[in-house]
Amino acid sequence: MDTQQSQLASEQLPASRPSATERKRVLLLMTPATYRGGAFVSAARRLDLEVVIGLDTPPGLVAAWPPEVLTLDFKAPEEAVQRIRAFARQRPLQAVLSVDDSAVELAALASEALGLPCNSPAAAEAARDKYVMRQRMAAGGVPCPVFRYFPLTADPAAVADAVSYPCVLKPLRLSGSRGVIRADTPVEFVTAFRRLRRILLAEGFEEESSGFLVEDFIPGFEVALEGLLTGGHLQVLALFDKPDPLDGPFFEETIYVTPSRLPPAVQEAIRSCVERAAASIGLREGPVHAELRVNEHGPWMLEIAGRSIGGLCSTVLEFGAGMCLEELILRHALGLALPSLERRPEAAGVMMIPIPQAGILKGVQGLEEARQVPLITGVEITAPLNNPLVPLPEGASYLGFIFARGQSPAAVEEALRAAHRCLRFDIRRELPVLNAALRPTTPPTVAEQAR
Ligand code: ADP
Ligand code: CA
Repeated sequence: MDTQQSQLASEQLPASRPSATERKRVLLLMTPATYRGGAFVSAARRLDLEVVIGLDTPPGLVAAWPPEVLTLDFKAPEEAVQRIRAFARQRPLQAVLSVDDSAVELAALASEALGLPCNSPAAAEAARDKYVMRQRMAAGGVPCPVFRYFPLTADPAAVADAVSYPCVLKPLRLSGSRGVIRADTPVEFVTAFRRLRRILLAEGFEEESSGFLVEDFIPGFEVALEGLLTGGHLQVLALFDKPDPLDGPFFEETIYVTPSRLPPAVQEAIRSCVERAAASIGLREGPVHAELRVNEHGPWMLEIAGRSIGGLCSTVLEFGAGMCLEELILRHALGLALPSLERRPEAAGVMMIPIPQAGILKGVQGLEEARQVPLITGVEITAPLNNPLVPLPEGASYLGFIFARGQSPAAVEEALRAAHRCLRFDIRRELPVLNAALRPTTPPTVAEQAR
């Protein structure tokens, strides 16, 4: 999304009174960096809605974009709610939605202030703080790993002696598996603790007031559930298998394929587990994205959020007669008819292209070849050239996405792997000095020193 200067500002919005026949108006909260804004705006246009963008950017620096823009500071939610209320007094809003996880809490606060149906702000907060989430889930009897909170100031050796193994160290408020590290022994734990502390400090968390979770490592197969809550009832929109083993020490996501190949009874157990998890944190309306592990003891909740699937992944989902996920979410929020929640019958999948090594991305070869692979519907490189690529657990981005559709989940999975094999990434092995804070501290190998 383009963020060049333009003269648009909320202050210039016409202050007309709404008429009874006025189109429904929706406020879409987003940051300039979002992947999802375009899809939501197109879906809103298809529904003939009037769209206002609530953009996290200083006034005066707004997108040169057709929909009108209300500039908001997501880090000052009270003030942002006041601005939204002032706007809505002039031009009533029928829904306030966050297009991704950047403004889930603000959307809840603003909806509450405007009297729109929504999740309680407390539910949104629980969905964004893993410690709060775990406490509520445990209280609600939802199967989830044993967890403990430790302050960042704790003595690593003492904590290493107090936990059981294998375990997972986990930040409370990061996403995309950043900072999530498995430890099998006390020695590994101490190293992981130090690494996580560096990541959190580099992210601006304060040592004195921050902490992290240590959870039992739950072995098993991982799935992601995309669903829609209506009055607390969960309808599954798509259940994705994650066929690559995610055993750590870091947990880089790669392939998502739907429909799931798990037996129907297991799928129903997953749905019901997510429904209980949503209830336990007070989520009752709108999209949910949940991640679970499944083993011989059944499903285990990893996390749940009151938002839809991130990045470009939603583009693989189509419902009924070609309706996209964003349209479905908008229809639900506005109380419009939901024609069909049946996903199209064919299989679909996406690969979040893993980062093979740290360095500067200089080029990508084999794109055309990858796009020619049967069943592949798209290959998008989203990482900008000449910028540093930082792998997990420090990094926060993907190289890009590969999309596929086909008759069976197995065929889709194989197509994604085949397309990925066509790609060659030219990555120069060095990080700029500025990023030193995030550089892993493993000592350079002899070969690296010789360079
Ligand atoms: P994030 O919000 O960063 O995605 P998650 O809690 O979803 O954090 O953890 C990221 C990944 O780490 C999960 O998808 C899973 O693969 C792995 N993971 C997290 N917690 C556990 C656990 N207790 N046992 C096993 N794997 C886990
Ligand atoms: Ca996750």
